[in-house]
Amino acid sequence: MSLTIWSSAAEIRDAVAGGEVSCAEVARLSLDRVSARNPPLNALLRVTEARALARAAELDALCARGGALPPLAGVPLVVKDNLCTRGERTTCASRILEDYEPPYDATAVSRLEGAGALLLGKANLDEFGMGSTGENSAFGPTLNPWDPARVPGGSSSGAAAAVASGMVPCALGSDTGGSVRQPAAFCGLYGLRPTYGRVSRYGLVAFASSLDQVGPLARTARDAFLAFAAISGPDPADSTSLPDPPEPLEPPAPRLEGLRVGLLADQLGADVDPEVRALVAGAAERLRAGGAEVREAALPHAGYGVATYYVLAPAECSSNLARFDGVRYGLREPREELLEQYEASRGAGFGDEVKRRVLAGTFVLSAGYRGAFYERARRARAAIAADFARAFAEVDLLLGPTTPGPAFPLGREGGDPLSLYLCDVFTIPPALAGLPALSVPCGFTAAGLPVGAQLVGRRLEERTLFRAAGFLEEALGLAGRHPS
Ligand code: GLN
Repeated sequence: MSLTIWSSAAEIRDAVAGGEVSCAEVARLSLDRVSARNPPLNALLRVTEARALARAAELDALCARGGALPPLAGVPLVVKDNLCTRGERTTCASRILEDYEPPYDATAVSRLEGAGALLLGKANLDEFGMGSTGENSAFGPTLNPWDPARVPGGSSSGAAAAVASGMVPCALGSDTGGSVRQPAAFCGLYGLRPTYGRVSRYGLVAFASSLDQVGPLARTARDAFLAFAAISGPDPADSTSLPDPPEPLEPPAPRLEGLRVGLLADQLGADVDPEVRALVAGAAERLRAGGAEVREAALPHAGYGVATYYVLAPAECSSNLARFDGVRYGLREPREELLEQYEASRGAGFGDEVKRRVLAGTFVLSAGYRGAFYERARRARAAIAADFARAFAEVDLLLGPTTPGPAFPLGREGGDPLSLYLCDVFTIPPALAGLPALSVPCGFTAAGLPVGAQLVGRRLEERTLFRAAGFLEEALGLAGRHPS
């Protein structure tokens, strides 16, 4: 068998379809890698070996009968543990859902398995998706495979670490304000936040419903595209899913002719690490040399993004998380009085960051403050969306850093939530505007840490992002560099 743990999803699929390897053998290769790498990294909260092997056996039987294989046949993958999996625990890395077994699959999960993927495990995260480091998990932090003294980013921390360490070629995360793109940048991966509504949220445990999107992380642009295409398209179970038909599986050619790229010059300012600045500028130079027209662009209101997000996301989370009351789901601290039982169950079940957001969200929605915070934040959100609309009248893509710096040491931000919120400065504005955004690897720091550049596109123009990403992937020649 010529496949290795670093083979791409596309290579695995071709090898399976060509009869060179069975799905069961691919699953075994991945499971062995999980056994070797998961104990130190803590990327997966649970391994769903029986489910993966059962699906592999079905596909191998189909193959033996000469049946046509689905497009991702035999591709092992993991999903963030806030995506519901029928009969498999789905904890959101929270004590409050420690024993929760959903009675249904998230649409994104059932579409991937329907396309032939093998679900190998559930990935660690910051509790309910709230965080940027992977350290807010009730089940321990995940480590960065490139440097285990550093964070992998978050909140899709385990998804990113599993892909970067060669456990699986691809994973699903969720992105509310950056949770796919930021860990992708910290772990040297492609990470896509699709257009809001392009992928169903059915079965994604809600954090902030007007922002949440499911998106893929992968080691190659093509794999990220394939996973995105497989999960895209309308879903009657999610009323916010868009009616547009699913994305065709064939990736766009990496051609730049006629492409106008806006470099977000003010995002390359003093607060950005100089190595990150130089690598993003280098990516812009490659695009220009490859035939794109690169000019400067600006988003004058994007600086309000972090403040806006940290009003709107907690407001929505305080309402969404009200359902975890110790009665209907998960952890219960029994008390004589109902109100006391709510307080005790929520007090014991939620971690500090979740409590902080529920409190802040309840405050900004309270009578008397609603106008000062919530309504104002909604207006700022509209102003940011209008900035993007103006920029996209002139260019087809926007380019800037995904994060102000590379992965930082575990515990560095110890206890200072505000400094962590500021890490989301570049990933939040496209999320507020509902636009697709892709983090692409653009090089390494002198210390060997990966750096990501963010491409933002017009609504439903994910293909344009992948045209540029595919070009950069070839031009920068970063493929094949892996952590040990
Ligand atoms: N880091 C951001 C937060 O803590 C984004 C999280 C996310 O996208 N789920 O809210």
